[in-house]
Amino acid sequence: MLKGTFPLERFAGLQTPFYYYDTGLLQKTLDCVLEQVADRPSWQVHYAVKANHNPVILKQIAGAGLGADCVSGGEIQAALDAGFPPGSVVFAGVGKTDREIELGLEAGIGRFNVESAAELRVIAEIAAARGCIAPVSLRVNPDIGAHTLAGITTGMAENKFGIYHGAVAEVIKEALDTPSVSYRGLHFHIGSQILDMSDFAALCNRINDLCARLERMGIPVGDINVGGGLGIEYGHPNHLPIADFAAYFGTFKELLPEGYAVHFELGRSIVAPCGTLISRVLYVKEGVARRFAILDAGMNDLVRPAMYHASHRIENLSSDGPELPYDVVGPVCESSDVFGKGVVLNECRRRDIIAIRSAGAYGESMASRYNCRPFAPSVFPTESL
Ligand SMILES: *Cc1c(COP(=O)(O)O)cnc(C)c1O
Repeated sequence: MLKGTFPLERFAGLQTPFYYYDTGLLQKTLDCVLEQVADRPSWQVHYAVKANHNPVILKQIAGAGLGADCVSGGEIQAALDAGFPPGSVVFAGVGKTDREIELGLEAGIGRFNVESAAELRVIAEIAAARGCIAPVSLRVNPDIGAHTLAGITTGMAENKFGIYHGAVAEVIKEALDTPSVSYRGLHFHIGSQILDMSDFAALCNRINDLCARLERMGIPVGDINVGGGLGIEYGHPNHLPIADFAAYFGTFKELLPEGYAVHFELGRSIVAPCGTLISRVLYVKEGVARRFAILDAGMNDLVRPAMYHASHRIENLSSDGPELPYDVVGPVCESSDVFGKGVVLNECRRRDIIAIRSAGAYGESMASRYNCRPFAPSVFPTESL
């Protein structure tokens, strides 16, 4: 079975579970992103901090020159601490608190991505009270269904995000008439783990229709933030370790008019492949109907399989034994604490090292201390420290 290359001798001396981040692969990924947008000086790529807020990862991404896309005051602070310039920080989220809005104004962030008329008024009020002007974009709900897991679509009319595309003109007018906000543009985000470029093409078409409609009404559009959502190949981390950025950016190059300043907010596609959850087999249990590999990592370390039925490639790094099907489960007291059912692994023994691949996004950042389990630490290649 083809497996990733890992420093196994080093792993042997470490307590499991832990997240291992291949910072070399992260750098290659960042270089690839920047290469795709090099011919578009008015385009800016922001990194969606919620995918992974590990400070080492954030510093590396800030160092590459990406902006930050934040969805809470805590993320704004983490981005600033990691060295992202305040002007490169954009702030989305349907439930921004007064304190978070104040923090954004105080720090001088580049953009509030406003999700409702009610929020626009609160931001305007807080900015007026502080004697400053808040730079705002309006998040549009484009009513587009993306071909991904139902739990991670965000751009349909039934989702809580954004202002319905038919109602956005009125809110732009209100923003233009409000002295304590400065209207800058439109924001979209249709979902996550999207591999079908026709979903992004549909977004471009919706954006073009909306912009044409606004221009006919004499309403300025400003810049366009198309959000994130590019998916990765969870099944093939060894063959396809870098997301298809050429196809992704190419879709926008082809379908959006050249004149727009376009912003992107990529999370998963930047950090998912570089992270692996490393754990050990505690027990192999021959059940009545199934064979279980019980790991020392659980759903509290990586919740995606339990939460979204997401699937990660799993490899036994310690064994070249015959391949057998296992239900790979964690120790947490929930039946949903399953990383995969019927997963084919080289024969497992107690203490074998198991790699759960492509866990760099929505892994560590979603971890919890359920069952009073400690947070898994992070480990980096020695040459990067
Ligand atoms: C989560 C999120 C992103 C990033 O999504 P990915 O699928 O990780 O690329 C971008 N923008 C907004 C507003 C988000 O909520």
